[in-house]
Amino acid sequence: LNLILLGPPGAGKGTQAERILADFPQIAYISTGNMLRAHVADGTELGKEAKSYMDSGGLVPDELVTKMALDRLAQDDTRDGVLLDGFPRKVTQAEALAGSGRKLSGVLLIDVDDEEIVRRVSGRRVSKSGRVYHVDFDPPKHEGRCDVDGSVLIQRDDDKPEVVRERLAVYHRDTAPLIAYYEDQGLLARVDGTRPPTEVHDHIRATIA
Ligand code: ADP
Ligand code: ADP
Ligand code: ADP
Repeated sequence: LNLILLGPPGAGKGTQAERILADFPQIAYISTGNMLRAHVADGTELGKEAKSYMDSGGLVPDELVTKMALDRLAQDDTRDGVLLDGFPRKVTQAEALAGSGRKLSGVLLIDVDDEEIVRRVSGRRVSKSGRVYHVDFDPPKHEGRCDVDGSVLIQRDDDKPEVVRERLAVYHRDTAPLIAYYEDQGLLARVDGTRPPTEVHDHIRATIA
């Protein structure tokens, strides 16, 4: 199973990824956002180059991201399939992915309107390990603490309102063209992402089956 999760920032891609991986434990999860944040945290050369783009809400240039993603796709644990979250994010990236020869099973578009996106992203809190919460929609058991490891939850710098507006503009300009791109290939399935997480997951499961 080789799936792409597509959708605006805050649509619930990471939230659904966790559930899809519980259904298909043999497939590898590749989140380019998580990978880039790990590079920034580790202070790697790539992280240093990527940081200013991420902070401003823009896309990290293809020459940095595409190699990182394709190298990850070439690793052993991707043999039984992958769940791609946040890649491709531009038609040029989709073409590079097609060139790698991996045959896609489908592309899930998690559809959420801009107004709801701003609500979700502004309430998002994350743990260092990448677990995602929402202050109203999915609060942790103990305020401000991760349920799994008790660490302090933080707000991502790029989840502040000014940056969110830029990320949405970038989504509509650069990423949304992928909808038609994959529709033309008969690969696109739309999921109403405004439903509660369990319903979104049920819909995704029905679509994959
Ligand atoms: P979200 O899950 O909120 O949509 P991500 O965690 O996927 O955001 O991405 C965070 C940031 O990392 C993006 O705003 C962008 O700067 C960078 N990024 C992630 N994936 C890509 C990609 N495929 N191409 C370019 N930049 C990317
Ligand atoms: P993405 O990976 O697409 O950026 P996330 O999975 O991180 O999105 O979700 C963004 C925020 O919205 C998080 O705070 C998450 O808890 C919350 N969220 C995710 N799915 C839903 C949903 N179906 N309804 C309400 N809130 C949601
Ligand atoms: P890498 O190859 O650099 O480990 P990954 O995308 O596999 O890249 O993981 C990057 C980060 O995402 C890690 O910090 C890991 O803890 C986190 N991560 C991996 N799988 C999941 C998941 N299913 N849900 C949430 N976070 C995850």
